[in-house]
Amino acid sequence: MPRRRACRDLNYSESMIKRLIKRVFGKVSPARQVGRAQGIAFAQHKVGRDGISDSAQRVTDGLQAAGFQAYVVGGAVRDLLLGCKPKDFDVATNATPEQVRRVFRRARIIGRRFKLVHVMFGNETVEVSTFRRAMEVDEAETDAHGRILRDNEFGDMEQDAARRDFTANALFYDPATQEIIDYHHGYDDIRANVLRMIGDPEVRYREDPVRMLRAVRLAAKLGMKIDSASVAPIAKMKELLRNVPEARLFDEMLKLLLSGHALACIKKLRAKGLHHGLLPMLDVILEQPMGEKFVMAALHNTDQRIAEGKPTSPAFLFAALLWHEVLAAWNAKQAAGERPIAALHEAMDDVLARQRAQLAIPRRYDTVMKELWLLQPRFEQRGGQRPFRLLVLPRFRAAYDFLLLRCESGEADPVLGEWWTEFQHADEARRTEMLQPDNGAPKKRRRRKKPSAAVQGELPID
Ligand code: ATP
Ligand code: MG
Repeated sequence: MPRRRACRDLNYSESMIKRLIKRVFGKVSPARQVGRAQGIAFAQHKVGRDGISDSAQRVTDGLQAAGFQAYVVGGAVRDLLLGCKPKDFDVATNATPEQVRRVFRRARIIGRRFKLVHVMFGNETVEVSTFRRAMEVDEAETDAHGRILRDNEFGDMEQDAARRDFTANALFYDPATQEIIDYHHGYDDIRANVLRMIGDPEVRYREDPVRMLRAVRLAAKLGMKIDSASVAPIAKMKELLRNVPEARLFDEMLKLLLSGHALACIKKLRAKGLHHGLLPMLDVILEQPMGEKFVMAALHNTDQRIAEGKPTSPAFLFAALLWHEVLAAWNAKQAAGERPIAALHEAMDDVLARQRAQLAIPRRYDTVMKELWLLQPRFEQRGGQRPFRLLVLPRFRAAYDFLLLRCESGEADPVLGEWWTEFQHADEARRTEMLQPDNGAPKKRRRRKKPSAAVQGELPID
């Protein structure tokens, strides 16, 4: 790509000249005024274009070559300034979605209300959005509590900055010039490690209460401090989260739990007394004294898997979050004289039915959650053919990970976990040696009815 290389060389020499100027005159060139924004040069912020993915650069290059403004925006710029690797790159432009689509070969318009364009290069997708403006509460459609229901107006770059949530999330980066355009002193806030709401925090939380959750999640994830004016209204406004559609809360909850910093997020919510009523799911997590250790171990395990780049499954996490509820119901039913497996089935159904109304966990996760729970008692059976049958089930690995968490939290005997760790890696001779005498568990009876698919582990992962 000769064009980009030329750009790089040009920029390299530019930065050399700046360094020379700095040496000669003893200071970095000051931020320049760009309209009402500050332009912060590479010499100051030190984020080189090589931090931007090739695809995102191709998108901004392509749009600029076609005569449009185009910048990398939002979380990616913030993460690069903080020295973190961005999850993905979003681009903002003054081109309309139709105009964006015409510039690229593989691009498609998505979204009904506010249209975005997904531009694809190889397996990377860059999300391109047209600058838009926030609508004032009095011109926008809101619910009875002031939550904005529609805000789909195009706008200019300055308006696009103002509609974003935090100053740190409102920076525009131009890969061609390596300049950052900053309307809200986000650069200074990032350097001071402060997450600050743009505008009046109360107004912004009322417009969109999910911003309260974003504040806590981003602060935990990025190790930033929420500034006092932005944190203060949360305590009295958290009730507004009740009016947010469940599906949106659920998405945010999932982001929080799968952020790689779930434990830090939860601790932060708790330290601020924000967990009560903030999200029903969090109440479940934090208010089970017996299960707390297990839940914390599960969150820690998820954070670790994310840090190691391993896949994580929401169903596994939900199964963990609800396990102690299931356990309590299961024990109660057994104490009342029900047979163990029948009691477990009933307990699972009870808990899922009770939580469904509260938690909005989509039904699509039920199968996997139930399967993980149902496989737990089968780890106890270590005689005859049973362990071999368990080992070959598609869900064995996840169920075994679940068992290890139970052992770690002290709910299951660690010896059981160790036995399965050794058994699955042992050779045939050692496995036979390890088998325990049949413990009198009822022999598998021939039944006419086929056992449920969930117990057989025949279902797809998610
Ligand atoms: P993450 O790294 O977790 O993706 P992010 O800040 O990039 O964090 P996104 O949900 O990807 O979060 O949002 C992209 C950008 O859109 C944000 O940086 C912010 O500028 C803006 N944004 C997202 N949600 C809101 C919101 N509820 N209100 C205002 N602006 C928002
Ligand atoms: Mg993002």
